[in-house]
Amino acid sequence: MQKRDIKNIILNELQEEVKKLGEKKYRANQLFNLLYKKGIEEFRDMLTLPISFRDLLQKKFYISKIELVNLTKSKDQTEKYLLKLEDGNLIESVLIISGKRVTECISSQVGCRYNCLFCESGKKGFTRDLTVGEILNQVLFVKEKKKSNPNNIVFMGIGEPLDNYDNVVKAIYILNSKDAFDIGARKITISTCGIIPAIERLQEHNWQIELSVSLHAPENKLRSYLMPVNNLYPLTDLIVACKNYTVNTDRQITFEYILIKGVNDSLDYADKLAKLIRGFNSKVNLITFNPTSDSLLQAPGSPHIQSFKDKLITKGIPTTIRISKGEDISAACGQLKNLHLK
Ligand code: SAH
Repeated sequence: MQKRDIKNIILNELQEEVKKLGEKKYRANQLFNLLYKKGIEEFRDMLTLPISFRDLLQKKFYISKIELVNLTKSKDQTEKYLLKLEDGNLIESVLIISGKRVTECISSQVGCRYNCLFCESGKKGFTRDLTVGEILNQVLFVKEKKKSNPNNIVFMGIGEPLDNYDNVVKAIYILNSKDAFDIGARKITISTCGIIPAIERLQEHNWQIELSVSLHAPENKLRSYLMPVNNLYPLTDLIVACKNYTVNTDRQITFEYILIKGVNDSLDYADKLAKLIRGFNSKVNLITFNPTSDSLLQAPGSPHIQSFKDKLITKGIPTTIRISKGEDISAACGQLKNLHLK
């Protein structure tokens, strides 16, 4: 029988598992503490557990690991990690420190199915979903090996988190758990290209996570050109789903809008965007396009970005401009690649 990675198991399920092994429920909390707070990587090193229990755990489960292949450090202290999974696949994570705010941008898949025109992650197609353990190991790596304690997690690395719904949701439960990472739901952001059924499902959880939706165009035709996923989940339906989400959850949605010179950055588009999202609890986060290696696309200049923002604000849409970090090490938005071992 193949052993199961213990990091794929959320707390209440682990409580059942330890009961099956003849132990009390609280042992699961203790295990969470040892795995995620103490970062212990072998059952035999869990000295606060009875030896017989350690042996039983060892027979049934294993503890997955992640390995650093390459670290790049930016002038602004942003760090990018190339990490190897146990099957040799590679993913990337980014650590961004800004005062007390320690944000880790994590991946949810190896590759991506959606192949947005401007994004590096989908260029080589989709390989597979990350497991819960692999998602968590990115954060554990930073805690244990970098001695940094992320207090903000953004699912903005490689992959589409809502395409790996079950594992991302379980990972969030564990990130959120007091016995594990204890990161508040409000400090965890899912960013999606707009998978409508999953946006609807998310409402069932009744939690306080942040939802960002990558919009990038206020019109169907342009959005389909930039983001082929729009053919599957068209803009008008997406906006309805977002509106419902804000009403049902009483939470705000952030619309991400990359500004690409001459493509989606005219002030006319700002007008259309304002009309499209007016009247519900949302805001816009403008992102300057980060040029990718082989892309013909360009970023507009900052005065133009400011004018786009001003236009939205005049129309009553709360708007911010995202400050880009780690550009010199290709760690900025959308620059994370799906790398394969040769
Ligand atoms: N699949 C998810 C999360 C990953 S991308 C999503 O689509 O939201 C995280 C954010 O980076 C998204 O808003 C995405 O559109 C943006 N992004 C991708 N490529 C970019 C680029 N070259 N420049 C700036 N932002 C980019």
